[in-house]
Amino acid sequence: MDFLMNVFRHPLLFILVCFANTYAQDLSFADELFENYETYKVDGFQQRRIKQTEVLSAIDETIAQYPGVFESRIVGSSVQGRPLPMLSFGNGTTDVLMWSQMHGNESTATRALFDLLHFIGAQQENVRVKNILNALRIHVIPMLNPDGAEVFQRENALGIDLNRDALRLVSPEAQTLKRVRDSLDADYGFNLHDQSRYYNVERTPKQASISFLATAYNYEKDMNEKRRDAAQLIGYLHAINEKFIPGHTGRYSDDFEPRAFGDNIQLWGTRLILIETGGYPDDREKSMGRKMNYVLIGSALDAVATSSFEQVADSVYWGIPENDRKLFDLKIEKVQVTVEDKPYVLDLGINLNEVAAADSYTLEASLEDRGDLSTYYAYEVRNAEGYELIVPKRYSRKIKTVEDRNKLLRQGYAFSRLNKEGAFGFKGVRSASPSLEEAYTHVTFFLQKEGKLEALIWNGKFIQLSDL
Ligand SMILES: [Zn+2]
Repeated sequence: MDFLMNVFRHPLLFILVCFANTYAQDLSFADELFENYETYKVDGFQQRRIKQTEVLSAIDETIAQYPGVFESRIVGSSVQGRPLPMLSFGNGTTDVLMWSQMHGNESTATRALFDLLHFIGAQQENVRVKNILNALRIHVIPMLNPDGAEVFQRENALGIDLNRDALRLVSPEAQTLKRVRDSLDADYGFNLHDQSRYYNVERTPKQASISFLATAYNYEKDMNEKRRDAAQLIGYLHAINEKFIPGHTGRYSDDFEPRAFGDNIQLWGTRLILIETGGYPDDREKSMGRKMNYVLIGSALDAVATSSFEQVADSVYWGIPENDRKLFDLKIEKVQVTVEDKPYVLDLGINLNEVAAADSYTLEASLEDRGDLSTYYAYEVRNAEGYELIVPKRYSRKIKTVEDRNKLLRQGYAFSRLNKEGAFGFKGVRSASPSLEEAYTHVTFFLQKEGKLEALIWNGKFIQLSDL
């Protein structure tokens, strides 16, 4: 009792007790992966929008570059007849199955897997790699949903979510995953996804850049030995995240979904780890997420091969803060808005949404929420206390140069009569004197202080007028 009281009184003792409860995890392999990443990162795959042709050539190149290490075979085909290849390597008896991109627009892990394969191929003399190859037999299905990837959509060509098809097995892609899982009776499974960039770590402004889940296998969310193993392995990986992207890890909801693959694969007896890659500052194409997937998956293979994760208490997993969805791209705090001639102070939450354009995208702003947004966070926060929202004026003639446009912006014009070429990004509005609702719709308005226009929110982006 005295000791306990002392622990609470003395912060240093408290810290010592906390550390005594954990063990000193060896992070040297994760360090090595992180530091050497640029050497093994494959060319291409810079953007999230990747297609199967790129994956197929990456498979061919990997096999050709490291003969005798990797084998590939076709394990199924998609609705539209695209082959579903699986790469296998290692000579051990513990089977590890990993698949990525069952949602066609979630490519981060696919890109990372090829970086990791290159590391493994090139580092066969590395003691840790040697041990992985001796202890494990690893199977990788990169891009389980190539038809979805072709048009960068979540669903397959039937328009269904493969991760809700684990029971009915209507789709050939789901049938393939089930058949492969069953034929291997894999000891470990890695279900690799992306999640929204608007997920944060609960009650913090940090993006949930990586989220983990030791998937539940029943509604009661029971823990059996295998689910506990998955939780311990995640605890092991969490320490790696804390070193490289501290505070950016979330624990995904473990609500049971009877139709999902992760949940069923855990039920069928494979230790299942879900990794979800979220957002990171200044990184819409998820380069950091790709790098962390490479580090984490590589480290997980080492931890499974050496069983070192078994020393991690499963309480570490439960201590990971939960995922939340409380981020905007831009938050304007406490701006004064005039309605019916009366001033009101509001926060505005703004997102920049991707609108597909051929193989690329443009960003289209939306005002997601307004009011007291003090429990929300954003990639960019602007305090507008003391500033008044001013609805832009409409310019009726053609704009000729960027200089003209900038001059007009400084004069309070940001709308045009027609949204056509020659408008220089000015959005077309109907009324000669635009309304507050039109300013909201186009997420375009000025911020004024003491009668002077100082800043502009233009199509959802913050611009200081003095920078123009
Ligand atoms: Zn997903």
